[in-house]
Amino acid sequence: MKAAIIGTGPGGLYAALAASKHNIQIDLFEKRSVGEGIVCGECIFDSLNIMKKPGRGLMHPVDEIVLQGRGCYTFPLGRHRKLWMLDRRTWQQDLAACAVNRGVNLHEHTKITPAHLQQMTKEYDWIIDASGAPSITSRLKGFSNDYFKNYLLAYQVVLAGDFRAVWPHIKIIFLQDIPADCQPAYAWIFPKDANLANVGVVCSVQGTMKKDKLDLKKVLARMIRTEGLNHAQELERGSGMAVAGMLSRLVYGNILLAGDAAGLTSPLHGGGIDMACLSGVLAADAVVNGVSGVAEYHEKLRRYTKEKLALEKVTVQKMKTLNFDEFDKLLGGITSRRWYVRGRTALQHLDMFYTTLKWFGTRKHRPDWPV
Ligand SMILES: Cc1cc2nc3c(=O)[nH]c(=O)nc-3n(C[C@H](O)[C@H](O)[C@H](O)COP(=O)(O)OP(=O)(O)OC[C@H]3O[C@@H](n4cnc5c(N)ncnc54)[C@H](O)[C@@H]3O)c2cc1C
Repeated sequence: MKAAIIGTGPGGLYAALAASKHNIQIDLFEKRSVGEGIVCGECIFDSLNIMKKPGRGLMHPVDEIVLQGRGCYTFPLGRHRKLWMLDRRTWQQDLAACAVNRGVNLHEHTKITPAHLQQMTKEYDWIIDASGAPSITSRLKGFSNDYFKNYLLAYQVVLAGDFRAVWPHIKIIFLQDIPADCQPAYAWIFPKDANLANVGVVCSVQGTMKKDKLDLKKVLARMIRTEGLNHAQELERGSGMAVAGMLSRLVYGNILLAGDAAGLTSPLHGGGIDMACLSGVLAADAVVNGVSGVAEYHEKLRRYTKEKLALEKVTVQKMKTLNFDEFDKLLGGITSRRWYVRGRTALQHLDMFYTTLKWFGTRKHRPDWPV
């Protein structure tokens, strides 16, 4: 069997590693070099509680997140779901080296165009497209607009400065005066160590983003000032999008979409590394099992994400409908150390309580992780 994988982000690398355990010829294509051009907060949130601890590139686990509304609330999320700060470049380069050691043919600086992809559908038995959003398959098949119906737009800088006030936690800052249709919107400070952090802002967009509605660069500059970070040195800047919802179709003939290409980023926070890894592994397992395996791929992903997406949908709705004071009260209630405050908050937000219980309570099958 001959398989091609497009992209050496987490989705493509996990697909290559999972497929390399079988007797398959694997060609892995990357338009840049591995680990180049990454714009990311670099925090893995193991939202389904199924991941294995990352190897090289792991900076530190995150036990607590700081949520800032009007007040500042600390939540020990790490007790329930694992979070890890990464150096993604090192992590991905190590995964790629591991894949090459296991016999994967890595082709860096090889950009797959729609015409190449068309040709590849004849040359390979299966293709896993993990080229991000919008995917190269969408350009061939004409569905690129599907990624832009509802998405999160993010703008980020990498800052060198003093992050001891946050590190080793991460901080999410909810923003005031954001129009409801731009919610969810928040800023983040994700320190990789005490002196280096990814700092950014994100908001929701339907269709096209109008700068006069919300200028992310200005919002970020304001947040940096109010957080007292204006003396930090900016090392890099970049922007990107995260699709807010799985696409309605993930298989096109012998092409399977994985990771962001499949629209697997969280509609609530835009994170997608965990889902990219999972979908890469499931896509590789599917092609190994042939036509019947591929037919089950989409449904398997739906089963994995059902409870997580239900909670995220309710939370997004809260962010759209509650005013800032009400949302702040919700944050304070959820994170309170007093059980009766948490209980009262649960009664006031039964939909959120119920979906949270289902999310925490449903155990997902751990896939056979390749690393
Ligand atoms: C600003 C920002 C911050 C984020 N922060 C986080 C975070 O902290 N935690 C988290 O979990 N998620 C985060 N995300 C989302 C996360 O980055 C993605 O969900 C994740 O990278 C998806 O992995 P992937 O493998 O599907 O795609 P990608 O990581 O996008 O990888 C796609 C790869 O394909 C290559 N490629 C593209 N086109 C071609 C082509 N034609 N030919 C060959 N190669 C091609 C690209 O060069 C790239 O290497 C963030 C996103 C943004 C925009």
